This record gives sequence, C-alpha cells and structure tokens, in this order.
Amino acid sequence: MQQITRRALLGGMGLALGAGLLPRRVQAERPPNFVVIFCDDLGYGDLGCYGAEKIKTPRLDAMAAEGMRFTDFYCAAPVCSPSRVALLTGRYPIRSGITRVLFPQSKDGLDAGDLTIAEALKGLGYATGCIGKWHLGHLPPYLPTRHGFDYYFGLPYSNDMFVEKRGDPPLPLMRNEEIAEQPANQDLLTQHYAEEAVRFIERSKDKPFFLYVAHSMPHVPIHCSDRFRGKSAGGLYGDVIEEIDWSVGTILDAIKKNGLDEDTLVVFSSDNGPWLVKGPDGGSAGPLREGKGTTFEGGMREPGIFRWPGHIPAGRVEHAPAATLDLLPTFVQLAGGTLPRDRVFDGRDLSGVLRGTGRRDGDEFFYFNADKLEAVRSGPWKLKRAFKGSVYGKPVEHPAVLFNLEEDPGESSDRSGQHPELMQGLEKRMQEFESGLGPVPAMKH
Ligand code: MG
Repeated sequence: MQQITRRALLGGMGLALGAGLLPRRVQAERPPNFVVIFCDDLGYGDLGCYGAEKIKTPRLDAMAAEGMRFTDFYCAAPVCSPSRVALLTGRYPIRSGITRVLFPQSKDGLDAGDLTIAEALKGLGYATGCIGKWHLGHLPPYLPTRHGFDYYFGLPYSNDMFVEKRGDPPLPLMRNEEIAEQPANQDLLTQHYAEEAVRFIERSKDKPFFLYVAHSMPHVPIHCSDRFRGKSAGGLYGDVIEEIDWSVGTILDAIKKNGLDEDTLVVFSSDNGPWLVKGPDGGSAGPLREGKGTTFEGGMREPGIFRWPGHIPAGRVEHAPAATLDLLPTFVQLAGGTLPRDRVFDGRDLSGVLRGTGRRDGDEFFYFNADKLEAVRSGPWKLKRAFKGSVYGKPVEHPAVLFNLEEDPGESSDRSGQHPELMQGLEKRMQEFESGLGPVPAMKH
C-alpha cells in the first residue's frame, strides 16, 4: 500500500522516491515545515482571542494576530479517537472504522491501509514526529511509529483511562514503542511535551519536518506543573490552559531561534468541545451550544489558528468554514505532492484561503457522531436531524431543527418552520452523502 501511495504522491512529478529524489519544486525551494498543536477537550471559548476573560493566553492571541484565526473551524467528531483519525487521514472517521473512543482493552486501531499525514509527507522527504496523546490503538501495529512517524513520545490513550477494577494497566508514557514511565506523572505532561517538541525541531531543522503535538490536556483529570498551579484567575482549568499557552510559545520560540519562522506553518486546534458535565474541570464553549459528545456547535467547532509569517497575511479573521479534515490535502499541496487517487478525501486544500488568494472548494460539512450522520452545514444553514438518546448520562431529545449559523451561532432559534424546502434539500444531501459512502469498515473497538 505504501509503495502505491508514494508513487501516487509523486506520480505527477515523474520522479521516483526510491532514488532519493524529491519533486522539482521541492528541490528549488524548501517546502514548509508543518506543526500541528492539537488540544484535548479544549472549548471554543477558552482562549483570549476567542473571548475568554479569566484565562490568559497571550502567546496564542499573538499567534492569531500574526496569522489567521478561523471563526468556523471544525473537528470531525465530538470525541477523541474519531476526531484524531479524521485529522490524520483527511477523511470522515466512518471511512476508517474508528468512530468511537478506544480503550486500554481495545484490540484494534488505525488500519495499515489508512494514509496518514505523516506517511504522505514522509513520502515527500519529511522528518515526522508525534508527541502527546495518540489514541488510535495502543498495541504495536497501531502505534505512531507504524503509521509514518519517525519518533513518538506520549500517552497511547486518554489520561483518565486507568480504572483499577477494570484491570487497566497504570497509565503508560511511551517513547517510540517502549514504556518510558509508568504511571505517567501527569503534572509534567504539558512541560515534557514542549521540551520534546523543541528537541524534535532542533534535530530535524535541516530538512522539512511534520510535528504533531497532541496535548493530553485539558482532558480530565486536569493537571499542570507547579509553575502554573494556582496562578490563573480561571482556577485550575485556567492554569492548565495557561501552561498550554506557554508551551505554544516555547514551540514558536524554538522555530524562530532556528531561523524557521517563514518556513513553518503552525496550526492550533482541539479534538472536540469542552466536557461540560465535568463542572469546573471542563472548559467553555463560549457562545456555542452544548459541548463534547454532541453535534451542536459546542461539540465540534473549535479554535483554529494558522500562523506562517510571510505567507499568511497577519491579523486575518476568516469566517468561511474549514476543518481539521483539510490539513492533509493542504499540507500535501504545499509540500509539492499530489493526493493519491485510490480513495476519497473529505478535506479540501486550504492553501488559497491561507494566502488570501482563493476560496475553499465546497462549503458543506457533515457532522458525524459515532457512525450516525446527525447534521449538515451548507453555507450559513445547519440541519440537525431529530435526536433521542443520552449524552454522558443526560437524556437529550429534540426534533429536526434548522439554524442560520451566521445569525445564530448559539443555535437558539429553530427556523425549520419557516424553511421547509431548505430542510428537505439538506436532508436529501445527507442521504446522498450516506449512500455515496459505499461499504464502510466495521466499527473498531
Ligand atoms: Mg477529546
């Protein structure tokens, strides 16, 4: 599969990877480095530049001021594992079979046939590193080192996945495929991830690199180091976010110190919305409705900050919808490759949007929750299908609802009664998309 993928990636260039050659455009100018900083359960309203008042995030606010801040940026699932597979593969999670959260007892994980950003970029000569939470299978065949990453340091699954009576092993902190510390000291995770990220940048600086920093925080149980504990006006949750802000600054400083500012596109986002049922240990969705586990905006709309000095005009606020799904197609395009044609990509190339020279191709976004398609957005309109069930033990029931997200981002005013034809049209688009998926893999667990 890898060889086919690599040929497909380089096919348009008429060059062979086996000869150690890179595409012509890549040889002429260094392709950009990519750094993706991805939080866990961070809310839309948890950063200063997205309206937080008590939590101070000066480095992320500066990153947004120096780059582009998306107001309508989506992750592709309202919980951890499926959101991560979508980011790394550029495809809705249902196409990989990872539609629910994996656990320490899980026997499955990311399939060898799935193409990750790391594999795609490795085929184009990139050094690749994964630091932080993986959560796409903790057994050897599924680890980052088997999916295109040269280096891995972090937790293989969520930081709350230690239930003694269930027989869970103490939380392991891994380096490549070995356990480095067990149980992991969670107070130091954010600090260690930053230090590891800096070391990766320093040792990789002479060739293009892709660094994926997936924070374990602010997923509960929340932890921070002594340096940040008790400092934020936002309580312990604020301390945790302020340490993440410090970590972002540390990574940006390392990029600058190594002379790579204009060669490095840095992206910041999160895997799903805040865990509201966790009370003060959870974040804020700001003006958005609900949070983690739901397909209301609070569950899936996230901060989305892109910084690339000299390429992204500074200080831009972008209102057009975009998603973590878009990262793979965007990075492959910017790295001088072409997407393989053996599969469907749901993400779209954002390079024109980032440079201010073009628009994203298509404005539809489909909201999946596990293997169910629950909602669709097209332009400003969002149709959410009727729902009856429970979200983290809380019963939830609503009829099919229609919102205009430009006028009503908080989804407070159902417009379904006024626009029956629009409702029908959006429902039809969802049915077309579902039938167009074709056979999908069995759900992994
Ligand atoms: Mg999460």
